[in-house]
Amino acid sequence: MLLEQLKQAAAEREAQALTRRRRIAHTACAPHQSVGPLDQTPASLLTFCSNDYLGLADHPALAEALADGARRYGAGSGASHLVSGHSIAHAQLEERLAAWLAPSIPEARALYFCTGYMANLAVLTALGTAGATLFCESLNHASLIDGARLARADVVRYPHGDVATLATQLAASTSAIKLIVTDSVFSMDGDIAPLSALLALAEAHDAWLILDDAHGFGALGEQGHGVLEHLGLVSERLIYLGTLGKAAGVAGAFVAAHELIIEHLINTARPYIYTTAAPPAVAHALLTSLDLIEGDEGHVRRANLARLIAQLRAGLGELAARAGWELGESDTAIQPLIVRDNALSLALSAALEAEGIRVGAIRPPTVAAGTARLRITLSASHTEADVRRLLDALTRAQAQVSAAAAQAPHAPHCKEAA
Ligand SMILES: *Cc1c(COP(=O)(O)O)cnc(C)c1O
Repeated sequence: MLLEQLKQAAAEREAQALTRRRRIAHTACAPHQSVGPLDQTPASLLTFCSNDYLGLADHPALAEALADGARRYGAGSGASHLVSGHSIAHAQLEERLAAWLAPSIPEARALYFCTGYMANLAVLTALGTAGATLFCESLNHASLIDGARLARADVVRYPHGDVATLATQLAASTSAIKLIVTDSVFSMDGDIAPLSALLALAEAHDAWLILDDAHGFGALGEQGHGVLEHLGLVSERLIYLGTLGKAAGVAGAFVAAHELIIEHLINTARPYIYTTAAPPAVAHALLTSLDLIEGDEGHVRRANLARLIAQLRAGLGELAARAGWELGESDTAIQPLIVRDNALSLALSAALEAEGIRVGAIRPPTVAAGTARLRITLSASHTEADVRRLLDALTRAQAQVSAAAAQAPHAPHCKEAA
């Protein structure tokens, strides 16, 4: 019975062009990456789909720091943080991160987690207790959605970017504890939440602002300290989550907030307590990553990224206008080209791959039905020539699909997504 059901679900996914397949990378995360089946010679692809915004994931200094960390502390932590797994490397990392966020969150402390997914579950379940209300932005990341589902708090959703609706919801709420929950940079759209307005609302309504800066930390701000530095926001009411597997190039995440909040998480957050601490070597490597982000190299990389973003947007804007597609309003390294139809997004992705370029086709349920897209992400390690190559290939792919559509107006890729 179970297998019958799964078989049918798989057939339905296939019919809707929604089947997901993993690809195997044979080399490090970098603009040129070899990808292919286990037992075949991989193809080298120019990739525009990682979240390695600063191009640090394959940085030799980080690989060396990881090796140095392993020599000092071994491979594994051996236990959870509350038992015996909390190492000096974790503690040093938390001190550094707290200092980075302290200008925005006075006297912030920081807490390191194995993954951003777990950090979001931890924050929302530990603070979203019975009697509290979570006010959740509708395009929040899956980990925030799951955290809200697990929490005992009431959950109210507000439409994307809709500060006015949120204000009405907050004014109507009688909850003792009100928590506004939002991505800072939306992961599939690249736009930035109206954080100043959200913080003003939090202050006006005695609420707190939980913000997930997975795509801002390292990439935004003069020093790379993230969206709070970028926007110059300061408040004790901020509960900040940064991830360390994207721009920081390694793995893990952290929460920075008032010391009482951090102590509460250490004592009550099950996704923090009941899991083995990340290898100390990972925390040790992250110390080097923070040096790179804040140092000259980070500044050069962010400046290069900004130039590439401008170049890509100029080209994509023309292409979208010609094809009747939509280029999302984004100034960040995430640039969504919304083509709407699932099969069309796959056809474009396949046409690019035939030219040796890898761009992810993002389909429901990751994005809303009818908004399938190519999610193009840039890294500071890309070059101007790489971006030009992508734009040229996309231009050819667009001509190809529109010629095919003209010949067969009812071809599957012309149908609106279900
Ligand atoms: C990637 C991501 C996460 C999860 O972080 P991991 O460390 O990869 O588990 C959380 N929130 C957002 C917005 C993300 O993009």
